[in-house]
Amino acid sequence: PLVLGFETSCDETGIGLVRGQTLLSDALATSMAEHERFGGVVPEIASRAHLEAMVPTVHRALSDAGVGLGDVEAIAVTAGPGLTGALLVGVAAAKAYALALDVPLYGVNHLAAHVAVDELEHGRLAEPSIAMLVSGGHSSLLLVPDLAQDVTELGRTIDDAAGEAFDKVARVLGLPFPGGPHIDRAATEGDPGSIAFPRGLTGPRDAAYDFSFSGLKTAVARWVEARERAGEPVPVADVSAAFQEAVVDVLTAKAVRACRDHGVDHLVIGGGVAANSRLRALAQERCDAAGIVLRVPSRRLCTDNGAMVAALGSRLVEAGVTPSAVDLGADSSLPIEVVSR
Ligand code: ATP
Ligand code: MG
Ligand code: FE
Repeated sequence: PLVLGFETSCDETGIGLVRGQTLLSDALATSMAEHERFGGVVPEIASRAHLEAMVPTVHRALSDAGVGLGDVEAIAVTAGPGLTGALLVGVAAAKAYALALDVPLYGVNHLAAHVAVDELEHGRLAEPSIAMLVSGGHSSLLLVPDLAQDVTELGRTIDDAAGEAFDKVARVLGLPFPGGPHIDRAATEGDPGSIAFPRGLTGPRDAAYDFSFSGLKTAVARWVEARERAGEPVPVADVSAAFQEAVVDVLTAKAVRACRDHGVDHLVIGGGVAANSRLRALAQERCDAAGIVLRVPSRRLCTDNGAMVAALGSRLVEAGVTPSAVDLGADSSLPIEVVSR
């Protein structure tokens, strides 16, 4: 089916078109620059920006794909989790298009969509797969028997998300927001072994699949403060590399362990942090050593976009999942296990 996907859970207005599992177009408008001076996303600004960007971005997605509105066979929209006001703009727009075009509407989970997007590049996920979702607001290990309806959370962060840790450490280092890509870049010039930062929740009595990044973030901040107090320059590249290594070491070790423990030999990584070059490299190394097939979407599709929503929508149509009711609402804290609603 030709599916039009709407993503407005945070600061990107993403409109994507897919046919089956083939990506046709992926139009993006972002209000990131408007939030930069606040050091984080301001919900009211994001909502208004979605409203302004919505119709032009839909038109851009259609013209990029060379199709008309009348060709659209189903509509998918992020129904949660995310910022309520931002989500509501997307849900209202998607409902209006679905009603006007008389096509089914699917309210989907943003987090499952971060995983589903990989199918556009690498074909159907193996069933079952282990999925590691690492983004700005979430960090979870999932057992996925069937992406269209069945996702079990094996573990999650007990405090900060991985992306949040990247963003907070970047701020400590004076790097721009969002900090993940800047730390990634700075780290290429640094020595990951130069500073020993703590690996959260890796003790023998700790939960096998849970994560903790707030202690690490605090350790980095203390280390940097001590340097500054001593009047010494902060080695941004080394701190970036050592911090990044601490994050991706734990992420990849626990993901491989989840695969082993559950007898699953396919791992997929999704979410904005999946764009991290060291995470991609170390995950590949450790999966190769463990005989696990690794799949990671190309960088551009890791962060928020509309194609990921269309990809999951298309999967739901093909699986014969019941469409959403016309009174579909937004749920800012939609649980990760609820793939569609
Ligand atoms: P969620 O998906 O949990 O609702 P979100 O949609 O805001 O959160 P994403 O768009 O999936 O998050 O990812 C954004 C996050 O990814 C930010 O924290 C950003 O710093 C991080 N990120 C992006 N690129 C990289 C990178 N190369 N290295 C590390 N982190 C990165
Ligand atoms: Mg974003
Ligand atoms: Fe996201």
